[in-house]
Amino acid sequence: MINLKMYINGEWVDAQSGKTRDIVNPATGEVIAKAAEGDVADAKHAVQVAREAFDSGVWSDLPAAQRANYLLAIATKLEERAEEIGRLETMDNGKPLRETAFDVADAAACFRYYAGIVTKPDGQTYHVSDPMQAMVVREPVGVCGLIVPWNYPLLMSVWKIAPALAAGNTIVYKPSEVTPVTAKILFEIIEEVGIPKGVANLVMGPGATVGNELAESHAVDMISFTGGTVTGRSIMRAATGNLKKISLELGGKSPNIIFADADFETAVDYALFGIFANQGQVCSAGSRLLVEESIYDRFIERLAERASQIRVGNGLDEGTEMGPLVSQQHMEKVLSYIEIGKQEGARLICGGNRITADGKDKGYFVEPTIFVDCNQDMRIVQEEIFGPVLAVSKFKDEADAIRLANDSIYGLAGGVFTKDGAKAMRVIKKLRAGITWINAYHPTYNEAPWGGYKQSGIGRSLGTFGYEEYTEVKQININLDVQPTGWFEN
Ligand code: NAD
Repeated sequence: MINLKMYINGEWVDAQSGKTRDIVNPATGEVIAKAAEGDVADAKHAVQVAREAFDSGVWSDLPAAQRANYLLAIATKLEERAEEIGRLETMDNGKPLRETAFDVADAAACFRYYAGIVTKPDGQTYHVSDPMQAMVVREPVGVCGLIVPWNYPLLMSVWKIAPALAAGNTIVYKPSEVTPVTAKILFEIIEEVGIPKGVANLVMGPGATVGNELAESHAVDMISFTGGTVTGRSIMRAATGNLKKISLELGGKSPNIIFADADFETAVDYALFGIFANQGQVCSAGSRLLVEESIYDRFIERLAERASQIRVGNGLDEGTEMGPLVSQQHMEKVLSYIEIGKQEGARLICGGNRITADGKDKGYFVEPTIFVDCNQDMRIVQEEIFGPVLAVSKFKDEADAIRLANDSIYGLAGGVFTKDGAKAMRVIKKLRAGITWINAYHPTYNEAPWGGYKQSGIGRSLGTFGYEEYTEVKQININLDVQPTGWFEN
């Protein structure tokens, strides 16, 4: 049994209340860990020490190259413990080992990327009308509250922790209460590399109490949140008290558009990858597939044929291609959406059930599921299911595809498959979404900004845009002709 404590002011601590929460392996239903179940008091304590650490300058005053060295050391240690972290992440979240291996490597690369950014030139100078040297410099925002979901427990945390620390902020990080296990290793590493006490703090517990305290606290200068759109609204409201900076990475219902002239097998392959990678629990999942009518029947037939062959199982088992959903509660939500799809009249051509055979009855396994002949009025087309459920619709022409693609409250991602380069570019430019692909789906890079239009969020993670989110811009004007203004006569 793993014992998970919080890390506050350089100490490993239980919740002040002494409460713990059972953490369950979604493939087996077994309790694998007991996590300290923090509440408002623990969050307040962590915020206070992060505040003191920031105000002391112990981190922000360090030369950037020294902060970069800490980040590089974290990256190296993540790589050294990659196998252990990958296994724990699979046991906690359910995703197959090959995915967690990728997540750990990507997390290490993210620390390296921001270690590099922080030592590069930044700021600007301006040519102004007075004998004045005008310039801007970037400074850390202060205390950052970082809240993440359960679908990429380690990677989502690193997308925030790496740029926030790189920029000189102090942090209070809250993982999802469902998947806190790998945070333990990350903070062990943070301790080992010697990041000063109070700079990086880990609190655990429910969003409504611990998360809300981070969003509400006047001692927190910025809240960076990844999670559902409904929660994002609540965080935005809670953040108004001191008008703290906010960054929101929220949900999606992203269109993947397949034109008749696309490379057929490549498009089928990416359509599957777009929705069934990580069991469909991806904010940018290509959960709405739009297929041109002339290839529609052939395309959905091939899609169902391949989807039904996906090997679903325990993520620790060799050869598993899709794991269980993260929790019983989430599985029930996904199964209820499958019922809704049937009632709405969508045609089910693949999956649709929980899997209980072959010893899977204690886990939260759901078949890769495909609904076709969907229309825009259906809830399975408009609402984020966040599971292995694909909604397929037919389109007539380019204009029709664009209209359907943009008919959503979300605007996170989108893909287009065609051999016609000009058409691909026309369609992508019309998509109201922040992350797009042409003849691909899902690859994403630390170097490029990640985030959504419309109700998919505010701001961007990753790349230089993601770094700038964790900075304030200060204008400095230096008088080059030092003498009185003469504005007042006496
Ligand atoms: P969630 O919104 O329920 O929870 C996310 C985090 O917020 C958790 O740590 C939770 O404890 C906390 N939280 C919950 N209520 C809170 C409150 N009132 N105040 C403060 N914190 C609160 O989301 P989830 O179910 O964990 O994750 C799935 C969602 O995350 C999906 O909607 C998905 O699209 C989204 N997501 C978005 C991105 C992105 O980059 N845009 C990436 C991954 C996941």
